[in-house]
Amino acid sequence: DRLVDGGADGEDTAVEAALRPKDLGEFIGQEKVREQLDLVLKAALARGATADHVLLSGAPGLGKTTLSMIIAAEMNAPIRITSGPAIQHAGDLAAILSSLQEGEVLFLDEIHRMSRPAEEMLYMAMEDFRVDVIVGKGPGATAIPLELPPFTLVGATTRAGLLPPPLRDRFGFTAHMEFYAPTELERVVHRSAGLLDVAIDTDGAAEIAGRSRGTPRIANRLLRRVRDYAQVKAEGRIDREIAAAALRVYEVDERGLDRLDRGVLEALLKLFGGGPVGLSTLAVAVGEERETVEEVAEPFLVREGLLARTPRGRVATPAAWAHLGLVPPQHTAK
Ligand code: ATP
Repeated sequence: DRLVDGGADGEDTAVEAALRPKDLGEFIGQEKVREQLDLVLKAALARGATADHVLLSGAPGLGKTTLSMIIAAEMNAPIRITSGPAIQHAGDLAAILSSLQEGEVLFLDEIHRMSRPAEEMLYMAMEDFRVDVIVGKGPGATAIPLELPPFTLVGATTRAGLLPPPLRDRFGFTAHMEFYAPTELERVVHRSAGLLDVAIDTDGAAEIAGRSRGTPRIANRLLRRVRDYAQVKAEGRIDREIAAAALRVYEVDERGLDRLDRGVLEALLKLFGGGPVGLSTLAVAVGEERETVEEVAEPFLVREGLLARTPRGRVATPAAWAHLGLVPPQHTAK
């Protein structure tokens, strides 16, 4: 339920369709990925062939689903969207694959969470456009080969390293999506504001972008919250002051830290002098589960260079002291 979480919530799902860039030209940032993908798709179109299978890796909310839809649009192909956890049995996958149209794009989100038998079926489908459907059980079981129309698999994963190499190797094109630069997120905010018919100036967009943790989904979400505030307090117009005031209400600070992140950092600085302190102790001090601190708060703090995980425990960096406006204790010379 965090405003600054990259994953989608119900409200996002409803608005995101309207905010999705429809072609590569509209897709902001990720220059290298766009350039390479553009070549892959244009070459396939010129050959009259189906595009190679594409693997997209990157954190939630960076645009993997969007990009898969763009791939389908650029190839003038229909798209089917499903996810690894939804495919528990090889039979589920066989049903999907056998109903694909020629050239169709199959988007498989969280591909690393597919069951093992389904994964093995996918190998053959990707390589030979064929699957063996097993009929019957035990010694009497027979494999019935089933020809598939050529299709393009777009797999998405938060961590390409989690994929077994045989699966990874079957993708013709692999793209790693990076977090977005603030200037790119500014463009995302401007574009979305235009689509949502919200008046925002450059500084207002920059203020939102700077708090969005490099993630377009978060930028769009913060924009909607700031819009609410502006409607009630400023006749709908967003500038830097309004954006900052709104996000203060929602407790998202200048760097995109929320209450949980700041709580962890404050405990580390104020109670433990900046560490090193063990994870369990830190978690008790902020009144959270160990896992919450480790998996929800810390990754962003580490990414921002505010906290380091060391063998002796968690340690605050000088940037953490500066960010919270605190002065580190003087170390006495030994
Ligand atoms: P998840 O893995 O959680 O499903 P995702 O990586 O698939 O996330 P998307 O659903 O594609 O993310 O994108 C989230 C939102 O961010 C969408 O509303 C989309 O419009 C916007 N967005 C993503 N990338 C871009 C971009 N490059 N330019 C403009 N908007 C973008």
